[in-house]
Amino acid sequence: MNLQWFPGHMAKTRRMITENMKLVDAVVELLDARLPLSSRNPEIDRIVGSKPRVLVLNKADMADHNATEVWKNWFNEKGYAVIAVDSQSGRGFSALEPAIRRVMKEKLERERARGIQRSSIRLMVVGIPNVGKSSFINRLAGRGAARTGDRPGITTAKQWIRIAGKYELLDTPGILWPKFEDPEVAKRIAFTGGIRDEIMDLEELSCELLGFLSAHYADMLKARYKLEDGQLKESSYDLLMQIGKKRGCIVSGGNIDTLRAASLVLDDFRSVRIGTITLEMPE
Ligand code: GDP
Repeated sequence: MNLQWFPGHMAKTRRMITENMKLVDAVVELLDARLPLSSRNPEIDRIVGSKPRVLVLNKADMADHNATEVWKNWFNEKGYAVIAVDSQSGRGFSALEPAIRRVMKEKLERERARGIQRSSIRLMVVGIPNVGKSSFINRLAGRGAARTGDRPGITTAKQWIRIAGKYELLDTPGILWPKFEDPEVAKRIAFTGGIRDEIMDLEELSCELLGFLSAHYADMLKARYKLEDGQLKESSYDLLMQIGKKRGCIVSGGNIDTLRAASLVLDDFRSVRIGTITLEMPE
C-alpha cells in the first residue's frame, strides 16, 4: 500500500478506531467496488462489533455495473446493508440515508418510544488507503457543511463535520490495512494503483492484468488495442509485446519497450480507458 503497515502501527490504528467507535452511532465501511473483498480489512467485523454499519461500494463508476449488482446481492444475503456510489459525481448518495436509517431502526425506535428527539446521527468512515474516504467525506459534506470541534482548547477533541440536520461526521476517517499477506489481494490492489509502482515489477503486473482481462473482459481488451481473437490466445507477455508494437513503444534498434507498454496498459486500466471492470466475484 501507499502506507507501510507494521504490527505496532496496526495495533495503534485498531485502537484509535475502537476508541472513535464509542463516539459514533454508525459506521460507514468503504470498499472499492472493483474489488470488494480484497479492499476489506480482515479484522473489520471484530473491530466494528455490533455497531450499526453500512457498506459502501465506492468507485462504482469504475466497476462493472452487473458485477456490482451481484456483489450488492451477495452482501445483502450475508445480512449487510450495502449501497454503491461514485464519490466523484455523487451518484448513489441518495441511498445512504435510507440505509443508515435501516441499520439504526431499532435504536431510533427505542429512542422515539422514550421521547428522545435526536438532532443528528454521528458517523465515522473507515476503509483501506486509497478507497476514497476523503472523497466520500467531502462529497457527503458538500458545501454547506461546517467543521466543528467538540470542545475547543482540548487537543484531543474530535473534529466533526456537521451536515445539515442529518449527520455529524467524524472528520478523520479510520484508515485500515488490507489483507496484504494474501498475494491475490496484493495483486488486485496493485492493479488499481494502491501499491507504489516503484516497488512493483510493472511488466509482471501488467501481464497478470492482461491475463485476467483476456479471460474475463476479452471484448474490451480487443476493442481497446485492436487485437484479433488469435492474439488473445497468446501468452500475456506476447500480448504485451503486441500492444507495445501497436502503440509505438519501441526503443532504438526496433525492440519493443515492454516497460513502457506495461505502464500504458496499467494506466489505461486505472483511467477506465479499457472499460468498467471488476477484478473479483463472489466465490
Ligand atoms: P482515501 O485514501 O481513502 O482518502 O482516498 P481518496 O479520497 O484520496 O481517493 C483516492 C483516489 O480515488 C483519488 O484520486 C480520488 O479522486 C479517487 N476516487 C475516490 N472516490 C472515487 C469514485 O467514487 N470514483 C472515481 N472515479 N474516483 C474516485
